[in-house]
Parts: sequence; C-alpha cells; structure tokens
Amino acid sequence: MRKIGPDQVIFTMGKENRPALWIDSGEILEVETHNWFSDRRDYARELAEADNGVDINPATGPVGVTGATRNDILKIDILEINLEGKGMMFTFPGSGLLGEKIKRIRNRVIAMKEGYALFNKNVRIPLQPMIGVIGTSPEEDVPCFLPGRHGGNMDTRLLGEGSSIYLPVYTEGGGFAVGDLHGVMADGEVSEWGLETSGKVKLRARVIKNRQLEWPALETATDCYLIVSHVNLEEAIREAVRYAVRLIRTAYGLSFEEAVSLVSLIGNIEICQVVNPVKTVRIRFSRDIDGVDLLKNVR
Ligand code: CA
Repeated sequence: MRKIGPDQVIFTMGKENRPALWIDSGEILEVETHNWFSDRRDYARELAEADNGVDINPATGPVGVTGATRNDILKIDILEINLEGKGMMFTFPGSGLLGEKIKRIRNRVIAMKEGYALFNKNVRIPLQPMIGVIGTSPEEDVPCFLPGRHGGNMDTRLLGEGSSIYLPVYTEGGGFAVGDLHGVMADGEVSEWGLETSGKVKLRARVIKNRQLEWPALETATDCYLIVSHVNLEEAIREAVRYAVRLIRTAYGLSFEEAVSLVSLIGNIEICQVVNPVKTVRIRFSRDIDGVDLLKNVR
C-alpha cells in the first residue's frame, strides 16, 4: 500500500501545488494527517491573539492520480479512518456561534477510548470518525480552512468510513489533499470545533473520465448528497437546490417546474457547518427512491 506522511502538508489548495506523490487510479493509499492545530500547545491563545498569519488546517498532500485531467471527476472511497493521539477542543472569545459570550480561553483535552469520546466523567459519546478537509487543487488558491467547489474544509459529519466523495478535477492529476480529522462532530459544528485529532485514512482514488461536477458529491450506503458552500447560508441552500434541479433535469429530461417539484419532495436540506467564514450545506437524496438517481450522470 502506498503511503503519504504528515511531513508533506499544505495550508493552501491551489494549482501551483505540484503533487508530492502520484498514484494510479484505483490504487489504495494511506494518508497520515496532522490535527487541525498541528499539535501546537497553546493554539487557542495563538489564534485568539493573532492578527492573521497563523497557519491552520494542514492537509496532507497534494496527491496526483495518473490520468486525471481537467473536466474529469475524482471518486475517493474512504475505506478506513484510524484516529490517533488525543482529542482537543477550544473555546476563546469570538469563537463559534456564541463567541461573544465566551470570556475565557480554554483548551479541552478529551480522551478517546474503546469507541467513545469521554467528554467528562458522566458523558461519553460514540465516536464517528470523519474527515473535515478533503479537496482537489482549485484554479485559484483557497486556504485549507475554507470550503468551496473543490471541496476543502466542508466539515461534513457523514464523510467517514464507507462513504465516497466525488470531487471536480481542475489540474493535471487532481492534486487532492486530506486533513482535519474529527473523532465526532454534530451538524453545524457550533463551537467552531469538532473533536479535533490526527490519524490515518486509508482510501482509494479513482478517475471517472469525461464527467463533470460543479460541487462535491457524497455517497453513503443509503443516500447521495451534493455539498455546497457560500458565505451566506441561505444562498448556499438556494445553490444546492439549483444544482440538484440542474442535475435531475439533465439526467431525466424533466421540465424545470417538474424538477423543482421533485426536489421539493425528495431533496432534504441539511446543515454541514455554520462556523467557517464560508458556510456549508448538503442536499440529501435517498438512494431508495425508484426512478431517480441524483448521481446518474456522475458515476
Ligand atoms: Ca474543519
């Protein structure tokens, strides 16, 4: 199995990042990631006091997939996520949805043991390992802490073991990178952090030739999703609906009005995160509806 280690990290996704490793389509790769804060000890204070310039959200990569060219899609199957080290969370003035109420800087260490996060002596939460950051190299530089059409910091709880993410390819090889593992996180990520940790991701990347995507798509055993980001949450929702309608119209030759009605019946709007400078939503379609496959022209 090929491997790429945490010594190869980027803080910005962009076409100038040449792949540090090339793999073949269908090859299995183990990606070792740093945690969000690169194990810096006093990260909350650094962030709270920084004007800017603190490097955050390292992603391991970029990895090129042989044969991927502009206008193809990369499908990345998440085979395994093994969390390592401790789980960390932070609170400081200004962080998250209730940041104006937070007075103190706190780093909180949360142990992860036998499938649970031990939040305090009474509360233990089943771990649901997920990937916060995964994206291809976009044409314009995007810092790893932002989400976009290329993927990036989507902080989507369902991007875990057994799921597949489909990403647009903009550059030769795609140049994807992975980071920001969370032991568990709720939809919204309201404090600005999931249970931040490091670890290893085993994945398989495949090139889907001559297919295009305008936004990332996610597939689990039961559902398909489009993942859409915008600075304005309502506009993110509107764009997710627009894109779902476009995909379904193209795949099934429906009128605009018919497609809007269909999406109103089976397209479920869900929140990924509302705390990054650019917000992320997803629209969910069950894979169990006869006669409609959201990703018919994507796979
Ligand atoms: Ca994140």
